[in-house]
Amino acid sequence: MASRLPTRRRFLGSAAAGAAALGLGASIGGRATAATGDIAAAPVADGLVLFTGAGGNVLVAEAPDSLLMIDSGVEEKAEALMRAIADRFGGRPVATLFNTHWHLDHTGGNALAAAQGAQILAQDNTRGWMGNAFYVAWQERHYPAREPAARPTASFDRTGEMDFGGRQILYGHLPRAHTDGDLYVRFPDADVVAVGDVVSPGAYPVLDYSTGGWSGEMIDSLAMLLETSGPDTVFVAGAGQPVGRAAVQAQHDMMVEVQARMVQLMRQGKGPADMMAEGMTADFDADWGDPSLYLYNAYQGIYGHFRDMRFA
Ligand SMILES: [Zn+2]
Repeated sequence: MASRLPTRRRFLGSAAAGAAALGLGASIGGRATAATGDIAAAPVADGLVLFTGAGGNVLVAEAPDSLLMIDSGVEEKAEALMRAIADRFGGRPVATLFNTHWHLDHTGGNALAAAQGAQILAQDNTRGWMGNAFYVAWQERHYPAREPAARPTASFDRTGEMDFGGRQILYGHLPRAHTDGDLYVRFPDADVVAVGDVVSPGAYPVLDYSTGGWSGEMIDSLAMLLETSGPDTVFVAGAGQPVGRAAVQAQHDMMVEVQARMVQLMRQGKGPADMMAEGMTADFDADWGDPSLYLYNAYQGIYGHFRDMRFA
């Protein structure tokens, strides 16, 4: 017990082995979709269709001559996904593909979409991860650099805007939340915003501290999304069904409270195993599920950012 920082395996035990086994796709993005299920399509608003069953959620916007796509699912489902999109929209090409972050369940179809002519746009940090090899400690997994065809063709730092067939599209960075390269894409005409895995309806969010995510700035991102959205804004997360602002507020409030409790216990010298043993999140677990990975990753992130935090 030389270190207060537990290894992931020691803390999570067999649950960790299960999570690591899932590594490649679904686990890192939240809830899994059925591996054998078909791709399903459901309208979210006028000219906006949500495709599920390809890994992470894929949102497609239509213009008269082309399509705009947000995330591209897992590689194994890429052909089925692109076929389903072509069928739905009469073969209109995907002109632009946004990646909400680097995770493989959101970028696995990149190379195929690019081969069909899509330009891939991401936040600078996401483009950086995808061009390099790195290690994700909490998954105990090495990721090689992605093949050049799968990498973003353009990136941005903070915010951007585009005209897409007469529709205004606003996008921007959600810094250091789920990863350090998360982005949102807003469709003001439809009052819809795609937010990737920063919003995690009904499940503790994943804080991928190995690539820069942590609870303090996920809380900030959620607050920003709430401030810049209206009473009827629809949020399309990286997994699950679209939700309203109440779900985003609930996640924000849960995270603020859990982080406050965690900081208090950390100042007493306690670690995530103690927090689990004390049932620190017991009153939230019925709504948010198994807290073990969330507590472990939140702890790592707070530990790394302790000096950034202001205490009352
Ligand atoms: Zn993710």
